[in-house]
Amino acid sequence: MDAPIEKTPEIEGELLDLVTKAGQVYRNHFNGDAWFGRCIFLSWYCERGTCTFCFRSVTKHKIEHASQARRSLASVLAEAMLIKGLGWRIEFLTGGYGICDDTQLLRFVKLVSQILDEKIWVNLGEIGTDLLQEFTPYVRGIISSIETVEEQLHNTVCPDKPIAPYVTMMQEAKQLGFELGMTIVLGLGEKKEDFSLLKTFIQENNITRITIYALRPVKDTPFEHGPDPLDVAWWVAQTRIAFPTIEIIVGSAHYRIPELSLHLRAGANAITKLPASNIFNTKRGLQVEEEVRKADRNFISHFSSASVYEIADWEAMLSRADLTAEEREEVRAALYQYLDKMAKKGKVLFDKE
Ligand code: SF4
Repeated sequence: MDAPIEKTPEIEGELLDLVTKAGQVYRNHFNGDAWFGRCIFLSWYCERGTCTFCFRSVTKHKIEHASQARRSLASVLAEAMLIKGLGWRIEFLTGGYGICDDTQLLRFVKLVSQILDEKIWVNLGEIGTDLLQEFTPYVRGIISSIETVEEQLHNTVCPDKPIAPYVTMMQEAKQLGFELGMTIVLGLGEKKEDFSLLKTFIQENNITRITIYALRPVKDTPFEHGPDPLDVAWWVAQTRIAFPTIEIIVGSAHYRIPELSLHLRAGANAITKLPASNIFNTKRGLQVEEEVRKADRNFISHFSSASVYEIADWEAMLSRADLTAEEREEVRAALYQYLDKMAKKGKVLFDKE
């Protein structure tokens, strides 16, 4: 497994030129704001469970029934409140295949959208036409987890998740007025020549947002290492130069934080895949804020605060969600569990300074 990245990698030569150019392209089209995108997981279950890099493919993580792995409504909505209150953005609402029925799914989507007071992005596999239509009032965009666009590699790493049904779904979603996004994972065995395939895929499918994840190796899978941060920077910069206005989000890890400034310099809009509620009000949280500053970007998300109870109007968020009084109380209790932990860590962090 990978050792932590201790300092921001230096770049030189061709990569430095590429990153500089991509940074300029970014500056020509965006205002410098950077944010943290938080994924909301509805479940740890996936009925496919066979993608070779995914933790769900590892036997000990396999969960027999969706109901065992589903998160409670209160914990999902408390997380949505944190996103709103701490200036994070929802990366997308997600969960593996077969997690719950459409009625339950639609209620989750609606409530999260109400808490955030905006339409959201969802990443829920191949969504049928009927459900797509029902999502219209609450959903802004549909994400497809493509993982890798190189067909042979895709067949190997995602044997039961072909690309074609996603393409069909994206065409339907586009017709219905949704924006379209995709995710790829670097470190699965892609080659730099494959960038042309990615470029074509983005163009042909009208993608306006891409999340580029650095593979986080999972024990007992065939993958032992994530990608070199310099390779991630290369892919981000190439994507930025080829698509000046696309939204690019980079997925990192808690042990890769020093790479973030490099990826922002390469033209990423935002960062994701950090354990934000755990590292909030810790040195690691401050390190995330520092990485964004180092890239000369304006961080609109918080990873530290001495006043988490006052930072947002938590009650206003709760009051706009269609919940029973009992559910509302459960969400409030789940939220305050988070806030109390954050406040406690903040006391240690800020009292020391
Ligand atoms: S479909 Fe998604 S959640 Fe399911 S095994 Fe593949 S990568 Fe993991």
